Amino acid sequence: MPRALITGITGQDGGYLVERLAPDTELHGLVHDADPARDEFVARYPEVVLHRGDLADDDSLRAVVDEVEPAEIYNLAGISSVALSWEKPALTGRLSGQAAVVLMEAARALQERSGARVAFVQASSAEMFGQAATAPQDEQTPIAPVSPYGAAKAYAHQMAGVLRRHGLYASSCILYNHESPRRPLQFVTRKITAAAAEIGRTGSGVIRLGNLEARRDWGWAPDYVDAMVRAARHAEAGDFVVATGETHSVAEFAEAALRRAGVGDAWRDHVEVDPAFFRPVDAAVLVGDATKARRELGWAPTVGFAEVVGRMVDHDLALLDS
Ligand code: GDP
Repeated sequence: MPRALITGITGQDGGYLVERLAPDTELHGLVHDADPARDEFVARYPEVVLHRGDLADDDSLRAVVDEVEPAEIYNLAGISSVALSWEKPALTGRLSGQAAVVLMEAARALQERSGARVAFVQASSAEMFGQAATAPQDEQTPIAPVSPYGAAKAYAHQMAGVLRRHGLYASSCILYNHESPRRPLQFVTRKITAAAAEIGRTGSGVIRLGNLEARRDWGWAPDYVDAMVRAARHAEAGDFVVATGETHSVAEFAEAALRRAGVGDAWRDHVEVDPAFFRPVDAAVLVGDATKARRELGWAPTVGFAEVVGRMVDHDLALLDS
């Protein structure tokens, strides 16, 4: 049975990854003491062995890799939101950039020591493409981040490529936005679906949003986690864009969510633009071409835009009703 170490295990993708890998993989996760999601995670996934560590403490990262001796490492940890990265740019570099490289070094050292392959999967992000001049983006699109989050992810992504040339079996999955009912409320999708459910039930309220014209390629989180597992277990390491290839605006997301919640054509009355939610610079149109992942990993998204919105709204309606 392969042994996997997952960082960021208590987040949206971590939980889905645990569900994807169990029961055929021995599961280990890295968590820090102050993680507010820890207790809920332990109750939900008692089979996972948790290890204490801190992304800001390089020694703790090396110690966990040495103790677990995993065959697969999934690095999902870091500052997860672009908005937060503007508040803490240096910390973002440390946690989403440098920590990934510390883990890659530890993986490479373990591989040299044990002689067994250690597959490293880096959760890279479409944010690295910034205001890309071309759409859709693929593995050859120039990396040109416009946010501290994108820049930190770019460093880890490029180091995965550098160390791959030096014997580390490192794959980078360039993940486009991927959503689910487990998405935290600071992301625009869940902010919208939670508010839409409330408006659907009460008939009143407004959703205050920033850039309504920003376009994203929104997929279904469990599909993206599946791509990472396929990358880890593929014969050849590489970079893989993971995306649906479809793009929608924030306004379209809001419309679809409010309609699903039963608001109908009156949806416009429930959306307002609030400058407080604009970003200093926003990646304008992110849409990915996952041809390589489809071809080499046999991966394909199973849930489209309307269904992602529908599942999230239905979940938030059910939460209100319970
Ligand atoms: P991100 O792509 O990882 O930053 O995910 P988000 O869900 O936070 O943002 C997606 C897009 O929605 C970005 O282009 C934001 O500028 C845009 N957006 C528009 N209004 C809002 C808002 O009220 N909150 C957030 N978080 N994003 C918004």
